Amino acid sequence: MLQSKSFVKKTKQGRIQKVVREHYLRDDIYCGFVPCTACAAAAERKLGAAAAAILVVDTNVVLHQIDLLENPAIEDVVLLSVVLDEVKNKNLSVFNRIKALCINKARRFYVFANEQHRDTYVKDMVGESSNDRNDRAIRVAARWYQSHLGESVKVLLITNDRDNKRKAIEEGLNAETVESYVRSLAQPGLLDLVVVPTSGDVSMEDVDDHRPSKKKVIYNEHKPMSEITSGLRCGIYHQGKLRVNRYNPFEAYVGSESIGDEIVIRGRSNMNRAFDGDIVAVELLPQDQWHESKSFIADDDEEEEEDVHLVPNSADDAPRNTNSTQSTVGSSAPSISSRPVGRVMGIIKRNWNSYCGSLQPMPMPAGSGGVAHALFVSKDRRVPKIRIQTRQLENLVNKRIVVAVDSWDVLSRYPSGHYVRTIGDIGDKETETEVVLIENDINTRPFSTQVLACLPPLPWTLSPEDLANPNRQDLRQVRVFSVDPPGCRDIDDALHCTLLPNGNFEVGVRILEQFLLQILLFSSNLQANFSCFLSW
Ligand SMILES: [Zn+2]
Repeated sequence: MLQSKSFVKKTKQGRIQKVVREHYLRDDIYCGFVPCTACAAAAERKLGAAAAAILVVDTNVVLHQIDLLENPAIEDVVLLSVVLDEVKNKNLSVFNRIKALCINKARRFYVFANEQHRDTYVKDMVGESSNDRNDRAIRVAARWYQSHLGESVKVLLITNDRDNKRKAIEEGLNAETVESYVRSLAQPGLLDLVVVPTSGDVSMEDVDDHRPSKKKVIYNEHKPMSEITSGLRCGIYHQGKLRVNRYNPFEAYVGSESIGDEIVIRGRSNMNRAFDGDIVAVELLPQDQWHESKSFIADDDEEEEEDVHLVPNSADDAPRNTNSTQSTVGSSAPSISSRPVGRVMGIIKRNWNSYCGSLQPMPMPAGSGGVAHALFVSKDRRVPKIRIQTRQLENLVNKRIVVAVDSWDVLSRYPSGHYVRTIGDIGDKETETEVVLIENDINTRPFSTQVLACLPPLPWTLSPEDLANPNRQDLRQVRVFSVDPPGCRDIDDALHCTLLPNGNFEVGVRILEQFLLQILLFSSNLQANFSCFLSW
């Protein structure tokens, strides 16, 4: 069946063009449920026969709850193509994570091409926003699943969108929020992974802020993107990547091409919730405010923040508290910095990650219903403390944990995040080694079975001819790392570095041989999962 849609579009040159899109709808797209008898016998199936429910998730659930979805407690999930397309457009890194779940044979995540299926394709309606249209497409697909599978299993739409949930229930679907679904699984630890909306979340403000002015606005609102764009165009704002000083987390730099210099950002309020690596829009302060001391004094609240309590006897190295505040405040004649000083007006692209660290010690709350609010202190001193909620505080103290950032509103001194996983005990050699590897983004997971399947079967040895080849050197004993950027398709540049007996280092640059490249290109799984090089 063919659907065609035509619309008129204005080109960049100002011409009017008629675009006709043809959309083929198919009836050979299957549900993926193992016991289904209605679908073709040979169809791919991943949704478990014993599933308590088949979960249909919306785009925001994938975008914001990916740490939860990655947890093995969540299975039998249908990913609709409309959802995957939206996720891909909005956040490529989350898209790659959900894609990895879908192709992982050990997980029961099934992709359903709802936009190509004759019964689940929805036509655009006049006056309907694309968001509403996509929500409708998700409900139509969930309804198709329910009627296709009948009484054999419950189909549950998971959405945190109040409107979408209401409409789904009105249309006779089962729908729940992420939190209520996870609660129904009765695994308290799992609730820590749920990202809860934090704006206006009063309870989170209680963590360490006992002053009466609880709702004090701490940071300036970020400017809307339209204002940032016009500000950049007329030269009021300057765009660049923010880098936080490793030795003083209250100072950052933004390399600006437009003024050909580095702009210094002093103090957390001027950094205005920007993280290291964020692309930001910066406004220069008037030149008479470029004094070093003045900008430090301006941040009256930060003294409190400098008082970071680390876990006693932890391997947490030098105190974060640098002496810059005291030394500069006391200096008699403040010198005017030759470097421009500015403040962050808006964030163009976030660089939020997961971080390794530990919880700031706090008294155990007595009988607070199981939910504790805690502050997470990252090992990376450039990262501010992060508020998290946990139902397993007693399991997390004295542990190295991974926390992801979710939001940072103007009322909160610290960003809000959620617990992702526990690495191990603080001070334990293996735990701390893993922390270093994670912090430097080194992937040490074993190769997947798909990758290993690309290799010749074992036992395998190099042929004597290869070994005797005078143009070749056997370097298999050397650990070689790829230096190609993430996402690179032709992984062919690599380095090694080895300590020699005389104390010197041998550094080797390795370039992939053409014929090996040919083999690798055929082995797509090997390419996709390559993180550490085999030597050749
Ligand atoms: Zn079926």
